[in-house]
Amino acid sequence: MANRIICSVCGASSSPRAMVRLFVLANEQKQEIAVRRRANLNRPPQIISDIDRICFNCNKSINSEIQDVANDPDCLRLNVLHQTDSSSCLFCNRVEETSRFSIHCRVKIFVARNIFVPDSCRCCDHHLDADGYVPQNLLDELMFINRPYLPAGKQLQQFLGALRQEAQQNDPSFGDESTFSDDEFSAISPIPRDQFQDLYIHCVPVSVQEEMFIRTEIFPKKSSDFFMQNETRAFR
Ligand SMILES: [Zn+2]
Ligand SMILES: [Zn+2]
Repeated sequence: MANRIICSVCGASSSPRAMVRLFVLANEQKQEIAVRRRANLNRPPQIISDIDRICFNCNKSINSEIQDVANDPDCLRLNVLHQTDSSSCLFCNRVEETSRFSIHCRVKIFVARNIFVPDSCRCCDHHLDADGYVPQNLLDELMFINRPYLPAGKQLQQFLGALRQEAQQNDPSFGDESTFSDDEFSAISPIPRDQFQDLYIHCVPVSVQEEMFIRTEIFPKKSSDFFMQNETRAFR
């Protein structure tokens, strides 16, 4: 078997020709970033010396981190998904028949794991669940590197738009108890959901006069939005 060398940062193995020497004695910053990234990836601590080698991917990414910090020392830092190669499947490294993650899938990963998935990232369709999302077992395996990252303006706008949609979908409505998860419902209600529904069916509707009194005399002005939203449900 051909001689393989392990990348001192990410652990990927490759032929010596696909690795570069760190030359850390001449570049302290590079050494410091390499050590931090290794720790980020939960790899055992190792003194990275002048003779150690790293893969092209790590080398390119470390150089771009150094450049980004030089251009703007206050630049945004994100937990960016770690992958060995952006042109192959994130999970199995297959190159053929892979697709990019959907924007909604990337947003779900960000919400669940606080990991930003660059839009170039790819995977095979069969790793995803029926809705096109990464299942929990694979979600738990994702690795990231905390590093400067500057998403292009258009990409960032698209990501924020999808993030907003996600937040709206998950926002429970006080006008409809079915939008609360079981945990949320038990946190706000002293009775279980089925008892609440039984009770609700037998509730005597509140008259408009009573409602106006509650709205104007008991609750401050701010609460009127709450009543407006709930009128359809509460006073039908
Ligand atoms: Zn590497
Ligand atoms: Zn795959």
